[in-house]
Amino acid sequence: MALVDSKKMFEMAYKNGYAVGAFNVNNMEITQGIISAIAEEKAPLILQISRGARAYASMSYLRGIIDVAVKENPDIPICMHLDHGDTFETCKQCVDDGFTSVMIDASHQPFEENIEVTRQVVEYAHARDVVVEAELGQLGGIEEDVVGVDPDDIAKNLTDPDQAIEFVQKTGCDSLAVACGTSHGAYKFKTEPKLAFDVIQAVAEKLPGFPLVMHGSSSVLKEFKDLINKYGGDMPDAMGVPEEAIGKAAKMAVCKINIDTDLRMALTAKIRQVFSEKPAEFDPRKYLGPGREAIKDMVVRKLRILGCSGKAGECM
Ligand SMILES: [Zn+2]
Repeated sequence: MALVDSKKMFEMAYKNGYAVGAFNVNNMEITQGIISAIAEEKAPLILQISRGARAYASMSYLRGIIDVAVKENPDIPICMHLDHGDTFETCKQCVDDGFTSVMIDASHQPFEENIEVTRQVVEYAHARDVVVEAELGQLGGIEEDVVGVDPDDIAKNLTDPDQAIEFVQKTGCDSLAVACGTSHGAYKFKTEPKLAFDVIQAVAEKLPGFPLVMHGSSSVLKEFKDLINKYGGDMPDAMGVPEEAIGKAAKMAVCKINIDTDLRMALTAKIRQVFSEKPAEFDPRKYLGPGREAIKDMVVRKLRILGCSGKAGECM
């Protein structure tokens, strides 16, 4: 089957109380690690490509890798999504490139301007059967060129439920990334964060049936940070979003959860371990291969937390 959009996935995730995992790809090994996990777990999948990934790998290479993944897994629905599109032009380019879903993130702009650019993207994308994720409210942290608010200001920039209903009605977007206390990157919080479940619940009550999205949802697992540091890395102490909180959000109106940092850390820890334990090794397959396995294991772990294992069939 060809690439699909996320409509059916979100419909089923909302109805049955789980979330679809959205994982970023920028090379072959990361993609293969994710694909082997979803094939084994029979889970629906959103593969995300950022502008940084497009610049790093080039869209033609990424598309080639993803096309093979889709062809080899006809029983798994796979959506190809632009992560954090910054302008109408970027989104238009990705729609034209065959993405089945795009995100326009104008959340740092004033409310009315966010509405206007999102509305333009929706108009262009919907005319070509592509769905649109938008964002309202601001997260903390840093992810590539997306710079969020200061950690101390996260609570002040949560999504306003009343604005959310107005935003969705005026833009026609298909899903909405909400600011509910999560944060991008590996250095999220100094102390364990509390997700604003009340914000998720309030938005869900104003927009019944409407799929919400959570970004910045890695847990920055201590065991992986410790492994990285044990094998010569230097990652300072930081806390992510606890996995129990991710699981709880997945049961609510949150239908898509973005996890990237935890995959990066798993890959980095494994490659560092090989370099440290086998310093004479110089065959890239001998460290990228184990790294690919580490990605797979991490994705399996996340799919089970999100509750989407075994759900591929109902999302077709
Ligand atoms: Zn994000």
